[in-house]
Amino acid sequence: MNKLSIIVPCYNEEDVISLFYQETHKAVTAIEDLDYEFIFIDDGSKDHTLDLLRVLCYQDKNCHYLSFSRNFGKEAAMYAGLEHSCGNYCVIMDADLQHPPTLLPPMYQAVNQEGYDCCAGKRMGRDGDGPLRGFLSRSFYKVIQKMTHMDMSDGAGDFRMMSRNMVDAILQMKEYNRYTKGIFSFVGFETKWLEFQNIQRAAGTSKWNLGSLFSYAFEGILSFSTAPLKLPGILGAFLLLLSFLLGGFGLVQQFLFHHKIGILYCVSNIVIFFSSLQMLMIFILGEYLSKDYLENKNRPIYIVREQDAKPATSNVYDITPIRRNAI
Ligand code: UDP
Ligand code: MG
Repeated sequence: MNKLSIIVPCYNEEDVISLFYQETHKAVTAIEDLDYEFIFIDDGSKDHTLDLLRVLCYQDKNCHYLSFSRNFGKEAAMYAGLEHSCGNYCVIMDADLQHPPTLLPPMYQAVNQEGYDCCAGKRMGRDGDGPLRGFLSRSFYKVIQKMTHMDMSDGAGDFRMMSRNMVDAILQMKEYNRYTKGIFSFVGFETKWLEFQNIQRAAGTSKWNLGSLFSYAFEGILSFSTAPLKLPGILGAFLLLLSFLLGGFGLVQQFLFHHKIGILYCVSNIVIFFSSLQMLMIFILGEYLSKDYLENKNRPIYIVREQDAKPATSNVYDITPIRRNAI
């Protein structure tokens, strides 16, 4: 019988974890002839997520959890989940029910019967994201597609069901600075896309703010494109031309019109302009160097502190859903 591993990264998800389990359990058990396992990854949560996972995994033998020694980030959690999975298919799902469990049966049909290696959800719309985040995300995906020439479109997230073949290919990519959307695209494989409407998380709050989204976007570009390294060359050529033009302009001001202020103005502007660009270029080089530095250290992607332990008292925590914003 086929087995599906459901991988769920969780960071401070005490409000929604049991509701997620109930809804997803309902959807997966409705699929005929399919064994399943849940692999929850507690990514260093500071709330009662781990307590709830202990109880859940104690009550259902198909549930397993790993708990990290600290917050390593969703990328590390997904990697850990895939590494600990044993199903011949794996699906990655957010704990907040923004990835509808109702898509599991059509996804399974695609990978099991239609010959696809991967069936991925494509989120349509950005309800609940706010206009600024929506605009920035759309712009980022346009830029990254151009820079990397890889298929990383807006809405194509981590919610996908994959064959063991594809999972093994992903696990071969052991880089420390992980950008899984790029990794999915890099490994290739035949993918079917299923569109779904974006919904607000069922409970709890998003772990992303504008700053972390910016650094995630930057991470994506640095991990899969070396185009920024060409910037110094392009800008250098442009600035050489500009400096000739400004120098010429200064000389004309000086000798034809005897305007001393003109040349001073030009020189100070050029100095500021050039030094800021040099700083920017050094920053880009530094970013690539720092990534390389971390890769060379060969640090573990995650560290597990606890795995599938028995709860101390299984009746202390009530695992019935606490609240639900909207589904
Ligand atoms: N997550 C995680 N580690 C983190 C941040 C998030 O494991 O450091 C998990 C989180 O619990 C959720 C999923 O990643 O299951 C997506 O996070 P979130 O809903 O905050 O992201 P958004 O949907 O706002 O992009
Ligand atoms: Mg979410």
